[in-house]
Amino acid sequence: MQVKAFGAQSATSPIAPMTIARRAAGPKDVAIKILYCGVCHSDLHTARGEWSGVRFPTVPGHEIIGRVTAVGAAVTRFKEGDTVGVGCMVDSCRKCYSCDDGLEQYCRGPHGFQLTYNGWIDGSGENTYGGYSSAITVDEHFVLKITHKESDLAAAAPLLCAGITTWSPLRHWKAGPGKKVGVVGIGGLGHMGLKLARALGAHVVAFTTSPAKVQDARDLGAHEVVVSRDAAEMAKHAESLDFILNTVAAPHDLDAFIALLKRDGTMTLVGAPATPHPSPSVMGLIFGRKSLAGSGIGGIAETQEMLDFCARHGIVSDVEMITPAEIEAAYGRMLKSDVKYRFVIDMAAL
Ligand SMILES: [Zn+2]
Ligand SMILES: [Zn+2]
Repeated sequence: MQVKAFGAQSATSPIAPMTIARRAAGPKDVAIKILYCGVCHSDLHTARGEWSGVRFPTVPGHEIIGRVTAVGAAVTRFKEGDTVGVGCMVDSCRKCYSCDDGLEQYCRGPHGFQLTYNGWIDGSGENTYGGYSSAITVDEHFVLKITHKESDLAAAAPLLCAGITTWSPLRHWKAGPGKKVGVVGIGGLGHMGLKLARALGAHVVAFTTSPAKVQDARDLGAHEVVVSRDAAEMAKHAESLDFILNTVAAPHDLDAFIALLKRDGTMTLVGAPATPHPSPSVMGLIFGRKSLAGSGIGGIAETQEMLDFCARHGIVSDVEMITPAEIEAAYGRMLKSDVKYRFVIDMAAL
């Protein structure tokens, strides 16, 4: 099946229209007409060949909301007409200990998990193409149910990457009532971190380098906002946070935040900087038995849990809608942090 898509032919060519092949729905497959696709920073890194191993042409997009058009004979959880989502993964080995635990994003099978774009179908070498397209076919195990109301569907798209990337660590480190939780960086990930930590019942402190974002952070759910360049403001929170979700993808001084953790507190990094952070002080970790951790997206079961939670609480991303023709311009604005807080492509314009 040939479908319309937008992608990059090389690292130096802009996102432009192309045609790609999608497989017909096999026995366990769900065929999906794509309605909306969020624009993640990973899309930009991939389209511009900034990460190693990008194979061109590439069709980015892993924050997909769509409607089921056909299902294979063995599909049990979906039927034609259902509203569904697809995130960062479309397959994994389903045999390793991570897959057994429902943490497919940490698959230890021979090929790891299969990325929604720039992945390898069954290790065959066939490139996967993402959501900047009119349709996609995905194994039902990696398809999520979307129960948000119709008018929220576009803004729900970023939950499939930005939402789960912040939800998984917030849940794993038990953000909730009685816990003081910091969220560092108020961008695509951080704005979801604030909303979710607040909805989970934690006392939420936002950290931003930008005084201009103080009111925004409050509006997004922060009880308190700290301008992290202000040492006196930072000092007020010394040794007080149970957990810090650090979403910043630029190298920065981690010690300044580790100092804000309580004894046994953890700071988890979810932003991937292109060059390393300065090495944190081991003393800062030793005196207080503190942990520095990392976390990557989330498993399928916890993604469904997050989507259901968000639908119940009316939580979506703050988004700006664009057409496929505006993707390159959107990339330019993302590089200047000129978006509140996620672009979503309306695929009806494809
Ligand atoms: Zn993403
Ligand atoms: Zn596995």
